[in-house]
Amino acid sequence: MISDSTQKPLASWPGTERYDGEVIPCLTVIFHTTGCTWNRCRMCGYKFERTRITDRRERIHALQAQLNWIVAHHPPESFRMVKIFTSGSFFDEDEVPHEAREAIAEAFKGKIVIAESRTEHVRPEPVTAFREGIDDGSGTSALFVAMGLETTNDFIREKCIDKGHTFADFIGAAGIARQAGAGVKTYLMLKPLFLTEREAVDDMKRSIVEAAPYSDLISMNLCTIQRRTEVERYWKQGAYRPPYLWSAVDILLSADYFVQSDPVGGGKIRGPHNCGSCDREFVRGITEYSLSGDREILEALMDTSCTCKNEWEYVLAHEEPWCMPLTR
Ligand code: SF4
Ligand SMILES: [Zn+2]
Repeated sequence: MISDSTQKPLASWPGTERYDGEVIPCLTVIFHTTGCTWNRCRMCGYKFERTRITDRRERIHALQAQLNWIVAHHPPESFRMVKIFTSGSFFDEDEVPHEAREAIAEAFKGKIVIAESRTEHVRPEPVTAFREGIDDGSGTSALFVAMGLETTNDFIREKCIDKGHTFADFIGAAGIARQAGAGVKTYLMLKPLFLTEREAVDDMKRSIVEAAPYSDLISMNLCTIQRRTEVERYWKQGAYRPPYLWSAVDILLSADYFVQSDPVGGGKIRGPHNCGSCDREFVRGITEYSLSGDREILEALMDTSCTCKNEWEYVLAHEEPWCMPLTR
C-alpha cells in the first residue's frame, strides 16, 4: 500500500526474511518524513517523498499517527522482524525526533529491527537508546543499523552515485553501531550510473569482499530507474541500462558470504532484466535463494539455456565505459 498522507506511512507490507538460518515473518515500513538531508544521490527517488512539516512537534505527531496506523494494520504477533526506512535517515534527529523514535521502539519491543540511516547520523546516543528501547528483556530483540554503502570504491561512490560519504565514514559508523550494541547491515548497489556491466560486476564482487569484515548482513540492491532521477534522464537517452539478472546470479554465486538480494522491479524495463522470456524464472530464483541460501538454485539459473546468456556474455566482454573527465 502506498500513501501520500503524513498520517500514514509511505508504504508498509508484510513479507519474509532469512535470519540466522531461519525464514521469519518480516514487516517492512517506510515512514513519511521530512526526507533526506543529503538529497543528491543520482538514482534516488525517495528524495521527492518528503513532507513539508517544519514544526518539530508536528513532525512527532505525524510519526506517531503513522505508527498508530501501522500498529492498527499489522498486529505485533504477525511479524518477528521489522525493517524501517524513512525518506532519509532513521537516526537523523531532525527527521525523526527522539520522542518519535522512543514511541517506535516501544511499539516494536522484542523484535529484530533493521533501521536505515546515513553514516553521519549513526551516533552512540540515539543508537544505544533505540537498542535499549526495543529490548523487552526476553532476549529476542536485536538492532541492526542499515547503511547504504553502495560500493567500497570511493571514486565510484563519489562520481557515479554522489553519495557524499566515504568507505572510511562507513567503517567509522559501523564501529559506532557495534559499540552501541547493534549489528550492521550493508546495502550495496549493483550498477551505478556510468559503469559498464563488467565494471559493475567487478565492483560488486570486490565490494562484497571488502565490506564483509564490517557487516553482519549484506544486501545487494539491483539498480532500478526511479522517476525524476538523473539515472532516468540517462536511461531515456539510451545511456544507461539496469543490470542483467544474469550478473546478479553470477555475483551471488561467486560470493563467499551469504548475500541477500530482493530483485525489486525484476523483469521490468525500468528494473534489472534479461530478455523478457527468462526473467520471471530469474526473479523467482533470486528471491528463493535470498530466503533459503540454497546455492543449487543459483547454479540451476546459470545453466538456464536462454539465448540471452550469449548477449550478456557479449556485453560483459565488449561494452566500453563512458569517459568522465577527472577535472573540470
Ligand atoms: S542518502 Fe539515501 S535517501 Fe538520501 S539521496 Fe542518497 S539514496 Fe536517497
Ligand atoms: Zn533470456
